[in-house]
Amino acid sequence: MTPNEKTRVLIEALPYIERYNNKIVVIKLGGNAMSEIKNAAEDIAFLKRMGIKVVVVHGGGPEIDKELKKMDITPKFINGLRYTDEKVIKAVEKVFHRINKRMRNRLKSKGVKAINATGYIKARQKLQELGLVGEIIRIDKQKLAKYLDLDYVPVVSPLGIGTGNQKYNINADTAASRIAVALAAEKLTILTNVDGVMINGSLLPHIDFKTAKKEIKKGNINKGMIPKVEACIYAVKNQCPKAHLINGLVPHALLLEIFTDKGIGTEIVYKNGNK
Ligand code: ADP
Ligand code: MG
Repeated sequence: MTPNEKTRVLIEALPYIERYNNKIVVIKLGGNAMSEIKNAAEDIAFLKRMGIKVVVVHGGGPEIDKELKKMDITPKFINGLRYTDEKVIKAVEKVFHRINKRMRNRLKSKGVKAINATGYIKARQKLQELGLVGEIIRIDKQKLAKYLDLDYVPVVSPLGIGTGNQKYNINADTAASRIAVALAAEKLTILTNVDGVMINGSLLPHIDFKTAKKEIKKGNINKGMIPKVEACIYAVKNQCPKAHLINGLVPHALLLEIFTDKGIGTEIVYKNGNK
């Protein structure tokens, strides 16, 4: 890189540094691939140094499957949602605890203060036939806001808490979007294992609500991508200015997305041409 190119990169970043200073960014991580966690931790440390308040929400599907296998339980899905009984929720809690700790340790190793912020999602049973799958009633945002003010990165496991302290299994993308809206975050960024929304083999840099709904209906957006796209739609509809899907396996994906003009991945927008 020539000196000119180097200075251009710094100058290009400045408006973004100004825009996000002291603002909240909610980042959802898959939480399984170690490379994703490593990449993200380094980038989050950078965001923190730039004065950005970061909340991390993690997922953990594949690791839950492994844990259930050890317990001789075959995972069961109904319309893409994991049927969850008492045994499954115990396994889910155990895995989430492990992933949460892994994430916090990574952040701490980069000099970032991190705290387990699980337990602030109030939930109730979604549907009888899904067992302990939860529907979010509200986010107890005061504690999360307090941690942010104290310069911590709250690391949230997607567990819902119901009456009598009943734990519920919640989709992590959904949890991240509700938290982003509750905290009036400036941005929701969902990291995953693909570049973004792909339709017929090509990456869409933007997708609007109407097109997203249409492509879900057609089956071109399916499985784990559905809750992601829906989470981003929910965020943008509820005054979160920006919602993105990016590939967490790309080194420094978060920095590229936040601090460069072109960005990467797929941005979910209200209407095409209304960016
Ligand atoms: P995560 O662990 O990040 O939540 P998921 O497996 O739940 O990941 O969701 C991401 C997956 O969604 C992708 O790996 C891909 O297989 C699937 N997917 C379905 N439809 C699409 C699409 N249109 N574009 C990209 N990925 C899609
Ligand atoms: Mg998923």
